[in-house]
Formats: sequence, structure tokens, C-alpha cells
Amino acid sequence: MTPVKIECGCGQNYAFDVEPVNGRMPSAVACPSCGVDGTAAADDFIARSMTVPTPVAAPAAVRLAPPAVPTYNPPPAPPPLPATPRPSQRYISAAESSSSEFNLGMGILGAFLGALVGVGAMYGFFLAVGFRFPLLGVGIGVLTGFGAKILYKGTSNTLGIISSSIALVAVVGTLFLMYGEFPIISIISVVVSVSMAYRIAAN
Ligand SMILES: [Zn+2]
Repeated sequence: MTPVKIECGCGQNYAFDVEPVNGRMPSAVACPSCGVDGTAAADDFIARSMTVPTPVAAPAAVRLAPPAVPTYNPPPAPPPLPATPRPSQRYISAAESSSSEFNLGMGILGAFLGALVGVGAMYGFFLAVGFRFPLLGVGIGVLTGFGAKILYKGTSNTLGIISSSIALVAVVGTLFLMYGEFPIISIISVVVSVSMAYRIAAN
């Protein structure tokens, strides 16, 4: 039921409760004082009393909508993203291939440094003690293999072959430096040190 209050043109106020049909008076009303039809005035009153809640609901619905739009906006943006990973993946693969070349270079450098340390230790031992110790050549091979393995940050067959070649030159050179010739008996020391360099750098 909706309470309706009507102020008639004759000055008479009258009120009643009705059940509006489609927001309008279900039947005609008239002023109890002058008898003027009050249906239009009653319809206005019902319309005004019913439109009051409606404006409240409408702005609320409008206000809810805008925040939803910005939150749904970002997702459409991702499509450009797949394009960005492609260049970065190319950079990664390019970096990987160049870094493996770099690592092999570092491995060769490590083999040289290891061989140098081994030669220094072997020849230094000979100079300090005055005793020729051919098996120290094995130390050169081990140091060459480890130097290559550490700077290469891994092992490979190529690195093993390079390391054993460097170890061969280093051991033979050092033995020649100590003896002034290459003693055939030292071939064992050379073979062992070269195989050690290969086994360490290649495995
Ligand atoms: Zn009246």
C-alpha cells in the first residue's frame, strides 16, 4: 500500500492508502470537500513517491560499472607481450652460442694456465731440489685438465683433446728443459699426463 496525500485546489487536504497499478491510481478519486477529480494529483504523488528510490539505484549501478571497466581493460593489452619474448629469446640463444665459444676459449686458457702452473712446479722442484722427477709430468697433465675444466665450467671431448695436446707440449718441453734431451723412459710420464689431461677435461 502507498500512502497518498492530496492538497486540493479548494484548500482541502485529504489522504488515503492505495495499491498503485502500473504506478498509477487503480481508480478515480475526488475531493471530499468540493468533489473535484483528484486522480491526476494522486498519480503525480504516486509517481513522485515511487521515483525516489529509483534515482538511488540508478547512480549506484552506474558507479559500479566504471571500476569494472578499468579492471577489465588491462587483459586486452597482453597481445603485444608475445612479441617481446621473441627478441629476448633470440638474445638468449645468441648469448648461449657465443658463451659456449667463450667457454671453450676460457677452457683453452685454463689448460694453458694449468700447464704453466704444472711446468712451474715441476721445473721449480727440479731447480730447488736438483732432482729430476719425471713423474711430476703427471702433475702437469692433471693441472692442465683441471685448469681447462674449471675455466670451461664443464667438460667436453674437444676440450679434452685440446688439454691433452697442451699437456703433451708442456710435459715434453719441461722434460727437455730438465734433461737437455728427451729421455725415452719418460714416454710413460708423457703418456700418463696426456691421458690424465684428456680424462679430466673430457669427462
Ligand atoms: Zn476540493
